Amino acid sequence: MVKAFIGQIVHTKSLNDFEIFTNGFVAVDENGTIIDTGSNFQLWQSKNIAKFTEIKEIHLKEEQFLMPGLVDCHIHAPQVAQIGLGLDMPLLDWLNTYTFPLEAKFADQNFAARVYKKVVESTIKCGTTLASYFGTNNKDSTLILAREACRQGQRALVGKVCSNCNSPDFYVETTEESVFATMDFVNDMKKLNTDLVQPTITPRFALSCTKELLAQLGEIAKEYNLHIQSHISESISEVEFVKSIFSSSYAEAYDAAGLLTEKTIMAHAVHLEDDEIELLKKRGTSVAHCPASNTMLSSGFCDVLRLIKKGVKVGLGTDVSGGNSVSIQDAILRALDVSHHLEFVKKQDIKGSGTLKPSQDEYAPINYKQAIFLATLGGAQALAVDHITGNFIKGKEFDALIIDTSIHPLHNFDANSTAAAEHKLLELVQKFIYVGDDRNIVNVFVAGKKIK
Ligand SMILES: [Zn+2]
Repeated sequence: MVKAFIGQIVHTKSLNDFEIFTNGFVAVDENGTIIDTGSNFQLWQSKNIAKFTEIKEIHLKEEQFLMPGLVDCHIHAPQVAQIGLGLDMPLLDWLNTYTFPLEAKFADQNFAARVYKKVVESTIKCGTTLASYFGTNNKDSTLILAREACRQGQRALVGKVCSNCNSPDFYVETTEESVFATMDFVNDMKKLNTDLVQPTITPRFALSCTKELLAQLGEIAKEYNLHIQSHISESISEVEFVKSIFSSSYAEAYDAAGLLTEKTIMAHAVHLEDDEIELLKKRGTSVAHCPASNTMLSSGFCDVLRLIKKGVKVGLGTDVSGGNSVSIQDAILRALDVSHHLEFVKKQDIKGSGTLKPSQDEYAPINYKQAIFLATLGGAQALAVDHITGNFIKGKEFDALIIDTSIHPLHNFDANSTAAAEHKLLELVQKFIYVGDDRNIVNVFVAGKKIK
């Protein structure tokens, strides 16, 4: 049976192409594939009535709109167990004090099962239809995470984390252990027999992997045509450490191992040099912008427009628990904040700084429509799955949210009742983005199936 969602619809087609339908429709077949999207349901129905014997109409309310599901390009699932802790520390201290001891606990499969069930529940609640998850070094508990995403119907890339050096004794693998466990993980993931959840090769970051391990992971990714995720240029001290060990730039360290591909996403990219950005672009490698953790762990400002203008694909990541929220809607606001703060740094004469700043920079911050692009289609492009999801283009799978702006914390007083329909719809979108939260996400669909 075909389902037609009818009402106010928004989605993006590129960074600067935000398409709205004030009275549109998205038609979805029984497999969850979008068969058409447009502005005139009656016309479409009259043309297709013979083809589809039964069309179930789902009419959105006046205060509701449909938008694509949110994409979290970078989240550490185990770290949800420590969310909010240690955020007064710089990156390397935070890893040693909090993160490594916590991740080591995931050798306990019962603990993993308890945490991962909650992780998937809470990300779905916040509208995440696709997440790129880091698990831990433990292959079996990371499989529990993959199964949980599958069971709850969330689209996910899941990675068993690899690290064989510069790590605490209680949380480190040998090269051989890391490679074998990764191979086992990839094979076990195949047995899940689902399109929803796929493995992704996951070296923790260059500092915690030897050149030998990175190279072997690059080979596995190539042989099985797998996705790859890791971290790059997050903090200045980390970048210096990488340069001293690899005698190259951070990006070159990964490239030498064959880890920069069209299916690679690197988190942070705060301090990339121009030639590193050029290398990422050349390889088709993407960036997960993680504004919350870049601020909280004092990593720095990531100028996403610098990356985008140079042709690098960018999506958003919560980077839990360097970031303090599992919500990509929150990441949208953080991305807008960081982009505005960058403008201040570039243009403002900050009082008390003792220096004058000439306001010659052409920089303009991103706007909410562009941020929604980063959180949806941009994320899907960055994870190299935009042929499957990210917007409501015919042929893609129906990964979507129904947003209700009449529910707390939003209020709909219809203050602008005389405004044109387009204007009113954009106001509902702004209300949700700037003031709303998971309570306003009343339904979540992945591949046409309602999961919230
Ligand atoms: Zn991370």
